[in-house]
Amino acid sequence: TLTPETAPPSLPAYPAGIAWAMPLPPMTLVEIFDGAAARFADRPCLDFLGRRWTYRAVAADVARVAAGFRRLGAGPGTRIGLCLPNGPHYVIAFFAALRCGATVVNFNPLYVPAELAAQARDSGTEIMVAPDLVPILGRVLGLLEDGGPVRQVVACPFAATLPPLKSVLFRLLKRKALAPIPAGQPRVLRWDLLLDSPPMDLPAPRPEDLAVLQYTGGTTGTPKAAMLTHANLAANWRQVASWSPQLRPGEERMLAVLPFFHVFALSSVLGAAIHMGAEIVMLPRFEPATLIAALRRTRPTVFHGVPTLFKAVIDHGATQADLASVKICISGGAPLPLEIKRAFEEKSGCRVVEGYGLTEASPVCFCNPAEGLQKDGSIGLPVPGVRAEIRALDDPGRALPPGERGELCIAGPNVMAGYWNRPAETAAVIGPDGFLRTGDVGIMDQDGFVTLVDRIKDLILCSGYNVYPRVIEEALYTHPAVVAATVVGQPDAYRGESPAAFVQLQPGSTLTVDGLRAHLKARISAIEMPKLIEIRATLPRTAVGKLSKKELREELLQRGKGA
Ligand code: AMP
Repeated sequence: TLTPETAPPSLPAYPAGIAWAMPLPPMTLVEIFDGAAARFADRPCLDFLGRRWTYRAVAADVARVAAGFRRLGAGPGTRIGLCLPNGPHYVIAFFAALRCGATVVNFNPLYVPAELAAQARDSGTEIMVAPDLVPILGRVLGLLEDGGPVRQVVACPFAATLPPLKSVLFRLLKRKALAPIPAGQPRVLRWDLLLDSPPMDLPAPRPEDLAVLQYTGGTTGTPKAAMLTHANLAANWRQVASWSPQLRPGEERMLAVLPFFHVFALSSVLGAAIHMGAEIVMLPRFEPATLIAALRRTRPTVFHGVPTLFKAVIDHGATQADLASVKICISGGAPLPLEIKRAFEEKSGCRVVEGYGLTEASPVCFCNPAEGLQKDGSIGLPVPGVRAEIRALDDPGRALPPGERGELCIAGPNVMAGYWNRPAETAAVIGPDGFLRTGDVGIMDQDGFVTLVDRIKDLILCSGYNVYPRVIEEALYTHPAVVAATVVGQPDAYRGESPAAFVQLQPGSTLTVDGLRAHLKARISAIEMPKLIEIRATLPRTAVGKLSKKELREELLQRGKGA
């Protein structure tokens, strides 16, 4: 077991200036926010497409909106759903909901009505906050009529906050997508009315209170909510913020292009930024040209992304000059293929640090040191306060020594309280010793660095051999024409399962399936050679831009049935 207590001298690579055994006393997110608002009152807090707010201004809005939520009947035990792209409304509504004692439920604004309705019902969300953009507000208003728990919608003047930009995206959002907020509808309230609420004294939440219900597929794939308490998230925000001692309180600028409704950005970007008094440069969604323009205009010092985003930035021509202000790039959420890391570092002149986390752990658990020893292909070392073990795949109670392959299990103050209303699923992942089974398969080396080889459910069992999709994906990425690659298991009457690869190429590439096979032949074993290789114009992705295997597996299953 790696525990903070065993850190020195067994973890020689632990970064200088960071204590693995850092004390993390339980706190609330409201305390973190109030602390930053007092300490950095006149420093910039938010930048949204050129409009800026100081910490003092954000705190004043949070106090009024919290009072407004209270007047709508919200308090401890109320779930408030945020169905918002990144922008000032998300940040203000998030802290206001917590300040009035309620729990935030994050909704993906791209969800179709059935997905929104299922999540609203499962979580018991009563109040929804949405932007006044036609497709999103329309779908959210539908929740008032479907017999579910939603009783109130708050509509934010999102389009009005967009500056008159030249970008096609913003012209579209501003001109065509503005939904009129229905008049005379008491169940739909304008955000401005909440902002007009006189502040009131509200009881402070406690660290053990539920701060966020965060939906995830987990290892079983069925959507369910991780219960993240104030203490869980407050621990993770401090764990993340402490990881980069070279960043200075009150002086940094963080680019927030990953959506806050996903927990990676919620903790690593929004949470860490608030904790260290940084300015948060928000973009409502990822569009390469807008992102590069934002880099040039705002000169951020910290840039978080998922691997596909880093790739897109260099593919769209970002230069060293565009990224010159960036001190650190952090990649997480999915494995960072070495080829992408190298290409980005070479073209941008910035170092990319890979981290690892999962929703159930609020989410960050591991990260490579920003300075000092990094190991390519590894997710790094446990962040302060996280204990880690590699356990036997056939016996989740047995810890394995360094060098052996097994399931990564972690414990720490950031591990969720459990799944919402699902005690059996909770018991399946969190043991009596408090260790969370991550479902990720990895190997720990003598220095404590972990390298993931795959996810338990991703493993392809081919004629009795374990085939790890990640190995094949890495081999595909070594071809310069490959933009994205995903490998899944395909039912196979003879071998049980066989690997199937889906590949997206650079526009205009003439590479063929045979060409790819020839490339792979030198790099992977015969048993790993995909039986099926398909070249596609695009590959399915999740809301944060991670490549998604679910749709491809389903498609292969259907094809198999049809055959
Ligand atoms: P989610 O809960 O949706 O954030 O997904 C968490 C999962 O993403 C983890 O269990 C891993 O399988 C995967 N993941 C996150 N970061 C990494 C990484 N750096 N390398 C490999 N897999 C990762």
